[in-house]
Amino acid sequence: MTTYARQPASFVRGQGVWLWDTQGRRYLDALSGIAVCGLGHAYPAVTKAICEQAGMLMHTSNLFTIDIQTQLGQRLCAIAGMDTAFFCNSGAEANEAAIKLARLYGHNRGINNPVVIAMEDSFHGRTLATLTATGNATLQRGFEPLVPGFVRAPYNDIDALEAIARDRGDIVAVLAEPIAGEGGIRIPDAGYLAALRRLCDTQGWLLMLDEIQTGMGRTGRWFCYQHEETLPDVITLAKALGNGFPIGACLARGTAAQTFTPGAHGTTFGGNPLACRAALTVIDTIDRNRLCKRAWESGEYLIAGLRQALDSVEGVVEIQGRGLMVGIKLDRPCAGIVHQALEQGLIINVTAGNVIRLLPPLIVKRAEIDMIVAIVARLVHEFLVVP
Ligand code: PLP
Repeated sequence: MTTYARQPASFVRGQGVWLWDTQGRRYLDALSGIAVCGLGHAYPAVTKAICEQAGMLMHTSNLFTIDIQTQLGQRLCAIAGMDTAFFCNSGAEANEAAIKLARLYGHNRGINNPVVIAMEDSFHGRTLATLTATGNATLQRGFEPLVPGFVRAPYNDIDALEAIARDRGDIVAVLAEPIAGEGGIRIPDAGYLAALRRLCDTQGWLLMLDEIQTGMGRTGRWFCYQHEETLPDVITLAKALGNGFPIGACLARGTAAQTFTPGAHGTTFGGNPLACRAALTVIDTIDRNRLCKRAWESGEYLIAGLRQALDSVEGVVEIQGRGLMVGIKLDRPCAGIVHQALEQGLIINVTAGNVIRLLPPLIVKRAEIDMIVAIVARLVHEFLVVP
């Protein structure tokens, strides 16, 4: 079905930050399959682990204990500061689990019509509940009736949440991205997450952070909330967790961690041995090669390069980023620049209509960052001088 307006390129092979198309042409991938291939393409240890596991055992169902799933859960909980994990196959499913968890948490506290606060300009997925949580009317249009049990608040605005807290007694959770990815790489003010934490504590709400795009080292820490030393109650993961192998997770701690009981939620494929082996290998690789630190340093280098090349250019509104999650905001819509970049052998993306989004693999080298900066700077210059 035509759910995507696709770019005119089809890739057959990848290695590191590079992709090759059907014509044998090489492209520098500064998007990582939308923040998925953090280790780059065809990372040998991941390929080997998947092949070995596929030859041993791929799937048993969650009717049985899956040791490697337990190992992955323990490993993720240790790095995230969480207590329990539920595994699924995508970001939307991870958020569905979080939303269901929040509702059950509310019912357990005697709130019969629990409501989750979700943010303007957010993105949480395309299933009905996650689309409802998503703060983008264009994506929702035509899919009404949406799901009840959500209230919208402006992002990066604690006063607005306090007003909601004063007005209503049916709120059970706040769902937010630590950086609004699809919303244009919007980085909230320093202290925002800590303030959210305090508000949730005083109100008895769950703080649920969607780390699907920001997680797994992308912003220079395992998880973006770790920049602020804040601990949410629930986090959701997917994308880079399997480096391209589909896997999602909903992690929880404290009361939230004990909310689901047998039969409350489920999945056939989620957390099967193959997906868990891939994810464990991804975590090992990030850990062993200190890729969080590297993502931070590479991000600083990339942002500095972009600022040097573009800061004084009229039409460039701002260059924002944390680690290797970087946005260049222009003063006009610029979706066409994606195709121009592709013609130059560079894969980028535009989000929120006017933000050029760069999400290169965490393993990107300095020389490759220089290439990204050079091509993007040239394209932006050309784009902005054309009337
Ligand atoms: N949450 C965030 C922050 C995302 O960026 C995305 C995907 O872009 C999702 C959720 C949905 O993930 P998926 O496409 O795997 O369902």
